[in-house]
Amino acid sequence: MPAGRCEHCGLYRQYLHRDHIVPKWAGGRDVPSNWQNLCANCHEDKTWQEQKSPAYRKFMAKAVKRGRRRKTLLGWIAWKLFRI
Ligand SMILES: [Zn+2]
Repeated sequence: MPAGRCEHCGLYRQYLHRDHIVPKWAGGRDVPSNWQNLCANCHEDKTWQEQKSPAYRKFMAKAVKRGRRRKTLLGWIAWKLFRI
């Protein structure tokens, strides 16, 4: 990203990160209306806050469960067929 002002703290930075306002894991889409330019500090903070949220834990627990299920043959077949 080019240099500019962080949309969170308003400070001018040499490098900005493109952040997804609604994170992808929460169903956020990869479209300009879901992007904001953040400095590295604010981006890190936001990501950290998100990963502390119950929604993120739920998402990760689900992902782990899905991964575990795939290890059994029946689970793998179900996953292949229905993507559950
Ligand atoms: Zn910032």
